[in-house]
Amino acid sequence: MGRARGCQSWGRGTGRAIIVSVESLLKVIEKLRLDYEVPFISDRGKVLDHTIVRINERRRGVAISYALLAPSEQDLESLFPREGMDCLAETTRSIIADCAMAPRNTALQMWDYSVTRGPYSLEGRAPVNRQRDTVLIIFAKSPLAYKFNYEMVLWHQCMHAKDRWEHRFPAAHPQVQTGEWLDVLWHLSIDGRLEARNRPHYHREERLEEAAALFGRLGLPAGAADRALAVCRELWGREVTLDSLMETGRSLGLEEAGRRPASKGPAGGDGSR
Ligand SMILES: [Zn+2]
Repeated sequence: MGRARGCQSWGRGTGRAIIVSVESLLKVIEKLRLDYEVPFISDRGKVLDHTIVRINERRRGVAISYALLAPSEQDLESLFPREGMDCLAETTRSIIADCAMAPRNTALQMWDYSVTRGPYSLEGRAPVNRQRDTVLIIFAKSPLAYKFNYEMVLWHQCMHAKDRWEHRFPAAHPQVQTGEWLDVLWHLSIDGRLEARNRPHYHREERLEEAAALFGRLGLPAGAADRALAVCRELWGREVTLDSLMETGRSLGLEEAGRRPASKGPAGGDGSR
């Protein structure tokens, strides 16, 4: 999840249109509707409170949707080989079960490209619906081409989903942007919990560096940045809620700093990692 700028370019025109027209060229076996508590507001002020996911196939009990630029069946097989998809579907199901979620529907949406531009390399999203009976894992880059183990991305996304599933965070439309600072704090909680359970995760130092870089970009004064980093260390592995993180962000001056346009720096804080 990136910052608001990213969300607007995502919501604008062409990207969405491509996805819709391309998806429809593959056989659609089912349409899955996800309703959200927090809608996405488009550039034109349209309130989007649900998404329709076109399911192209089922593998190992998981509904799979392909959002491709090249839509032929042959391309599908070379981009997402069946064996790889079976394995991904199975791993997804077992991680979701390990996270103590029992959705009626589990869906994977695979993109072979990223429609977001700018500094973020979006890896995925994990919306759940308002009724908390469906988990959708979106892979914005082909996980089968990852240089590193895609299981780490799956664990990460499933933890975001778990926090939503258990109502610590609302069911938000996947295009709704979490603030960058909020994401940075949330990640400390997620990766610390994964570490405690001995599951794949980003390391504490890496996440703390990410936080320090963000506080620098937000222009926090040195004293405030040190205080914020001390809080980040405490957040490692602690279960959090949206409300508790908002409160933390307010008390550290992050909310206010986040509203000012950030200085241009190196691309940091890939919110969806
Ligand atoms: Zn994330």
